[in-house]
Amino acid sequence: MKITALAGGIGGSRFLLGARAALPDAEITVIGNTGDDITLHGLRICPDLDTVMYTLGGGISTERGWGRHAETFTVADELAAYGVGPAWFGLGDRDLATHLVRTQMLAAGYSLTDVTAALCQRWKPGLRLLPMSDDRVETHVVIETDEGRRAVHFQEWWLRMRAATPAREIISVGAEKARPAPGVLDALANADLVLLPPSNPVVSIGSILAVPGLRDALIGTPAPVVGVSPIISGAPVRGMADACLRAISVATTAGAVGAHYGGRGHGAAAGGAGAGAGAGGGILDGWLVDTADTGTEVPGVTVKARPLLMTDVEATVEIVRAALELAGV
Ligand code: GDP
Ligand code: CA
Repeated sequence: MKITALAGGIGGSRFLLGARAALPDAEITVIGNTGDDITLHGLRICPDLDTVMYTLGGGISTERGWGRHAETFTVADELAAYGVGPAWFGLGDRDLATHLVRTQMLAAGYSLTDVTAALCQRWKPGLRLLPMSDDRVETHVVIETDEGRRAVHFQEWWLRMRAATPAREIISVGAEKARPAPGVLDALANADLVLLPPSNPVVSIGSILAVPGLRDALIGTPAPVVGVSPIISGAPVRGMADACLRAISVATTAGAVGAHYGGRGHGAAAGGAGAGAGAGGGILDGWLVDTADTGTEVPGVTVKARPLLMTDVEATVEIVRAALELAGV
């Protein structure tokens, strides 16, 4: 079975651990968010791709959920001693090696797709990890301060401001000119099942959908598309997705996020292709919500309630099985 999943960082990777365990024989392709990418100290950093790679490759810090296990921060301390920031971005010594390799390869003319494949040769994540695009797309956040309106990089808003300064607008800079990376559209067109893990609907899944052609590929795929809600009982399980949803005027509920993705208008999740394909203009056939949100309805989408806390791999395997059942594959 061919499975294609869109993914951000922590929520996406935890879900993928469950998908890999539930479907050891499946060919899993991950379309990773690169909207979080940032250049610091001349180094190109791809936090979400790295979180997927480290998590699936066994190199993640399980306590933090991002960055390397057994990490040290000597270089960051030395930079701070020079008064060189930003102090709000955690750059570990082991992690720096990844960014050095990536930056060197990009400077030599390799694409981000090539670089990601090369880095994955070391980590062997057990799935194919593709960046959403080889072109540069960066999420910026428009905020209002005493000095007026200005845009900051998503990482500055998220990490330094802890998303506490209200976002007026969230913009994918460069998205309109970006092309899907090689293999991305094929992975959606030729999948047996497409999964949307419980990643941030705005700055993870939303950034991926901002790449021209991606949304249409989801609308048009003959495979069923099933999503998992990152919102349980009106709050994100982890992080500040509510601050992102507020910026796009979507309520922080499982139902509102499902409706924001929208139904494809294929009817029931199972047997998706056929008459009226894409008539709904949305991207979902099925939507999994937590049992705390039982009774949630999303027009044009089959909704099922299951426990959605990814407490460990076993619990996540059950979520993946529920998605398979909902998809009828
Ligand atoms: P990021 O890039 O590291 O922020 O990670 P993602 O975008 O992939 O995922 C972030 C989302 O994961 C957050 O909005 C959380 O609500 C969601 N999340 C984290 N843990 C869980 C969980 O155990 N269950 C569910 N349903 N969602 C989760
Ligand atoms: Ca992210």
